[in-house]
Amino acid sequence: MSSEPAVFPPRPFARAGRRLLLAVRCGLFRPRCRICGRDLVAEDETVLCRDCLAGIAPAADDRCFVCGRFLSAGQAVCGPCLLSPPPFERHRSYAAYEGTLRQAIILYKFGEVEPLKHILAGLYQETLARELPGAYDAVVPVPADRRRRHGFQPVQACGRVLARRLGIPLRDGLLVKKRSTPPQVGLTRAQRRVNLEGAFALAPGARAGGLRLLLLDDVTTTGATLRRCAAALRRGGARVTALTLAQTRL
Ligand SMILES: [Zn+2]
Ligand SMILES: [Zn+2]
Repeated sequence: MSSEPAVFPPRPFARAGRRLLLAVRCGLFRPRCRICGRDLVAEDETVLCRDCLAGIAPAADDRCFVCGRFLSAGQAVCGPCLLSPPPFERHRSYAAYEGTLRQAIILYKFGEVEPLKHILAGLYQETLARELPGAYDAVVPVPADRRRRHGFQPVQACGRVLARRLGIPLRDGLLVKKRSTPPQVGLTRAQRRVNLEGAFALAPGARAGGLRLLLLDDVTTTGATLRRCAAALRRGGARVTALTLAQTRL
């Protein structure tokens, strides 16, 4: 029988712990900006460095007053909005889907860097304050695709932060996606419309009558998803304002 006294933590773990401490002290685990790789040193730098954050700025282009589409100077409302007014009152995104903002969204959405939700929620908030002021009853995220239903849901996670900051509820289950739709990327405008036909609806038994809702998505291209979701909410009696982080230049 061994007379050796019990050590805690057991020796191999203690050794590993010391090595880890040493590595931290030597800076091996110093947090780095997830976009440019620079060391994060300032206290307010969490996931992105100050320079990358400063590269995310609102677009100054002329936009359609209703749907937010980028327009050539002098136009107030775009052709599609004049021909067929959207089911939402207005839509605004923070900026164009390009540069550092695009990198941050990809990092968040596909790299699943969840802490970015705090930074992105701030961009939604800024856009609201600047361009869509008013009182809203709830935040409604565009429903995640079935494939993502049990994993990380980027719009929902960010929407939860935004709703908390606005002091209103997140109505995650209000809209449902009735079937999985193939990704919209690479489809023509007409194909996108057909692809989304009947894809979204108010959840069975849900009520939206009289509510002022903030419909939330991350990126919009033709606005087809926003239109479908807003139409379902409006059929339920709600007034809808749409808010996204970025939009593509068409
Ligand atoms: Zn950086
Ligand atoms: Zn428009």
